[in-house]
Amino acid sequence: MSDKTEHPPLPEAFAALGVRNSILKGLADIGFEKPSEIQQLLIPVAMTGVDILGQARTGTGKTAAFGIPVLCRVEAGTGTQCLILTPTRELAVQVSEDLRRFAHFTPVKVVAVYGGQKIQGDIKALSHNPEVVVGTPGRVIDLLDRGLLKLSGIRFIVLDEVDRMLDIGFREDIRNILSRLKGMRRESQPAPQRQAVKAMEADLLVEHTGDGGGNRAIDQGSAALEGDDAKINSPQAGHQTIFVSATFTEEIERLARRYMREPVEKLVAPGADEKPTVDKVEQYYLSAEPWDKYKLLRLLLKREQPDLAIIFMRTKHGAEKLAKNLTHDGISCREIHGNLAQNKRDAVMKGFKGGKFDVLVATDLASRGIDVAGVSHIINYDVPEDPEVYVHRIGRTARMGAGGKAYMFITKEQGDELTKIENTINMVIPVDTVEGFVPRPPPEKAPMFAPNPNPPAQKAPEPDKNSMRLGAKLPSRRRRR
Ligand code: ADP
Ligand code: MG
Repeated sequence: MSDKTEHPPLPEAFAALGVRNSILKGLADIGFEKPSEIQQLLIPVAMTGVDILGQARTGTGKTAAFGIPVLCRVEAGTGTQCLILTPTRELAVQVSEDLRRFAHFTPVKVVAVYGGQKIQGDIKALSHNPEVVVGTPGRVIDLLDRGLLKLSGIRFIVLDEVDRMLDIGFREDIRNILSRLKGMRRESQPAPQRQAVKAMEADLLVEHTGDGGGNRAIDQGSAALEGDDAKINSPQAGHQTIFVSATFTEEIERLARRYMREPVEKLVAPGADEKPTVDKVEQYYLSAEPWDKYKLLRLLLKREQPDLAIIFMRTKHGAEKLAKNLTHDGISCREIHGNLAQNKRDAVMKGFKGGKFDVLVATDLASRGIDVAGVSHIINYDVPEDPEVYVHRIGRTARMGAGGKAYMFITKEQGDELTKIENTINMVIPVDTVEGFVPRPPPEKAPMFAPNPNPPAQKAPEPDKNSMRLGAKLPSRRRRR
C-alpha cells in the first residue's frame, strides 16, 4: 500500500475494514489510500454497531472515521437515519461536504441544516428525505419543534467535537435533542429516576477503574436525569452513538457516557490523550503588551510570509477592528465572526478554502474542526480563553501530517494563562522574538491597535456582550468548566 500512483485503485486497506465498494470508489476518487490511525481503530468497531467515544488529535481524519461506517450502514431510500451535530455552522457545512464526497458513488443524500439562513431551504432539502442530516443544535431543535425533522427513524447519532457539544453552552440543547430519541424519553415516569442514577453511578465507578478522580462521577446528576433514566430503562435504545473529539476532560467523558449504551468502546489514537497537540506544529510565544501587538503582528507577518494564516481573536469586535487595520495597511485579509451575516460567513469560508485570500482573522467560531489545506500559520493574537481552545486553534495547521507554525502573543500579565496552556498540552512553549520589534512604553490611553491615521466613517458598534477590551486588567472568565 506504499504504492503512490496517481490513478486511483480501490483502497484495499479501507476494504479490509469492511468498507463497501461504492464508498471505496468515493475514497479512491479523493485520494484516500490508507486509513489514518483513528480510522483504522474506529471504522471496524463502528461497523459492529456498538457505541463509541473516539479521541484523536486535530487533523487526523475523525470525520471519515465516523462518516465512513455511517455511510456504509445507512439504507438508501428509507428516510433520515443519521443525525450528526456540530458546534458551528461552518463545521456542519464542512462535515456534510466531506460525507458527500465519500458518498459520491452511493445513493445516499447528506444535508446540512444550520441557523442564520432561511428555514425554507431546509424544508426543501429535508423533503427529499436525506439519509444523513448534519446540523447545529439550535436549528435542529427548531426543525424538530416544527415537526419538519423527525427522529423516529434515527439509527446513528454523532456528536463531532463532543467536548464542546457537552460543555455548558450547548449541554441543554444536546439534552433536548437526544431526549427526543426513541427509547430515550421517560417523561411520564419520573419516580424511578433517582434509583436509576444510583445504579448508573455504580456502573460508572466500576467502569472508571483507571481514572483517579472517578468517585465524583455524578457531579451534575440532576442535570441529565432524563437521559440517564432513559438509558438505564431501555437497554435496547434503537441507535448507535458515536462521539468524537481531540480533547476530553473526565467530566465530559462521564457526561457523554450518559447518552451511550454500555459497553462503550473508548478508542484513542496513539498519543492523543497524553499530548494533544500535533508534533508537526512548531509552537512559540512572543512577548508583547497590548499596545504593541499590532506592530508585532505586522513584523511577524513580514518575516514569516505565511502561505495561509489564521489570526485568532477573542472577540467579534476585536476581529472586526484587526481586519480593518490590516486591510488599511494593504494586507489582504477577511474576517469571520458572529457579527457577520451567515451568507457572508459561508462566502468567507469558501473563499479561504478556495485560496482567494491568505489571511483570515477569526474568532473561535473557526477554532474547531475547520479543515483548510495548507494553513501554514496560526497566530493567537489574543490568548484563548480556555486552554483546550488553544489545542483546537493550532490544530487548524499541520493537518494530516503536514507542517505548520503557531505563535501566541503574551502580555506580562498573562504568564499564568501561558502556564495553563503548557500544562494542558504537556510541553513548554519556547519564546521567540522578531527582529526589529522594539517594545514601546504604554501610551496615555491604550488603544486597541495602532491608531489608524484615516479612520473610515463608521456606525457606532453594536454592544457586544462578550467583548473584552484588550489590555483590560482582569479578563473576565466567562465560561467555567
Ligand atoms: P479531524 O476531524 O481529525 O480534525 P478531518 O476529518 O477534518 O480531521 O481530516 C483532516 C484532513 O485529512 C481532511 O482534509 C481530510 O480530507 C484528510 N483525510 C482524512 N482521512 C484521510 C485519509 N485516510 N487519507 C488522506 N487524507 C485524509
Ligand atoms: Mg473534525
